[in-house]
Amino acid sequence: MGIVVQKYGGSSVANAEKFRRVARRIAWKRQQGEDVVVVVSAPGDTTDDLLEKAGELTSSPSAREMDVLLSTGEQISIALLSMTLQEIGCPAISLTGPQAGFRTDDHHRGAKISHIDTRRIKQELAEGKVVIVAGFQGLDQRGDITTLGRGGSDASAIALAAYLEADHCQIFSDVDGVYTSDPRLVPTAARLDEISYDEILELAAAGAQVMQLRSVEFAKQYGVEFEVLSSLAPLPNEGGVEQGTKVVAALSPHNNRVVSGVAVDSKVARITLLGLPDRPGVAARVFGALGKAKVNVDMIVQSAGTVANGSPNADIAFTCTRDDLDLALEVCQEVLTVFPGTQLVYDIDVAKVSIVGSAVASNYGVAATMFEALANTGVNIELITGSEIKISCLVRASQAVDALRAVHDKFELGKSAVPVSGK
Ligand code: ADP
Ligand code: ASP
Ligand code: MG
Repeated sequence: MGIVVQKYGGSSVANAEKFRRVARRIAWKRQQGEDVVVVVSAPGDTTDDLLEKAGELTSSPSAREMDVLLSTGEQISIALLSMTLQEIGCPAISLTGPQAGFRTDDHHRGAKISHIDTRRIKQELAEGKVVIVAGFQGLDQRGDITTLGRGGSDASAIALAAYLEADHCQIFSDVDGVYTSDPRLVPTAARLDEISYDEILELAAAGAQVMQLRSVEFAKQYGVEFEVLSSLAPLPNEGGVEQGTKVVAALSPHNNRVVSGVAVDSKVARITLLGLPDRPGVAARVFGALGKAKVNVDMIVQSAGTVANGSPNADIAFTCTRDDLDLALEVCQEVLTVFPGTQLVYDIDVAKVSIVGSAVASNYGVAATMFEALANTGVNIELITGSEIKISCLVRASQAVDALRAVHDKFELGKSAVPVSGK
């Protein structure tokens, strides 16, 4: 008998009917002779609702108290799911993250899993129960509850699969796999039958919500192969087949493709520092201070230097998440006091559109094709960055979806679940 870790996201447990459906799927898996461990998220929009409730009372809640609040969402799901399973005659037990042995650092609202003590889970499995674990939460060394960042139940599931050395890890969501773009925004998007860690890492970093970035980093580090599937699809005992997107270390040769997906990130902000002295050490000072404050900086572009009032200077623009904007502005303002005459401006009406693929950099003309698609749609590119497997363009937020669709269709990705041919 092997161990299967299944994860159900909030949309899969948004109401009583969905709880029943998930319970039937779990019970079916157990009937196949598997030990089943289930990680579940808060029902529907519960986490957002809790954030809103806190926002009605304070504009600067303590991160520790937010974790106490936000972790309650997942606790609702584990109890309800366990009851639903018991109701249909399937033995089950719910465990909070701390009860299930999740230990983390003390970085509230974005904690990292440091260890999972799986003894309790294994003991319950040995007693024949399905174990239902609250995703997104753990306990720090002080004994305080922590949460793992938005979408963190994905990390709980992948980490649990690694620690339990599970035979299979299945991530159930409201989509039946990873698509060439967000199917909610791009109607022509196609499902991929497999995707590599590197591709899905870049897609997640580029804003594709389908998997939390940190969970994929963990999967890559520990070699956890997993599958993204739909919880809404017919159950195998109702004629359905368990078919989604397999996330693997290396693609099968027939799946080699230049561009695998297009993503948009609308939760970004741009900060521009104008007229910085153009000499060694200035960028190090700015980004050193941002790093120290734990601001994650994404795109960075420095303009060619010019000479003003006899001294060389340059502008530096960068992007960060909208959540980090206030902190980033504070840090930059502080640093700029050392460089008189510099100016700081920021913009939140921006979005980042990226193409991702394992051979983007080594294929001629990929960047040009992307820029042409944007130009034909009348979209102005404000910043550009590239890596081996990604090209990102910052555009006006109001044009983001048009840009996404134009780029997706220019690369004919709708067809390219069928691979794009090589160089
Ligand atoms: P869950 O609640 O199951 O964790 P999420 O809402 O976090 O689900 O993630 C699933 C959503 O991710 C989908 O509904 C889809 O709109 C979005 N998404 C964004 N990019 C992609 C993509 N490339 N492939 C599939 N889904 C995507
Ligand atoms: N409930 C948490 C969130 O909404 C964690 C998760 O869904 O994975 O971010
Ligand atoms: Mg999610």
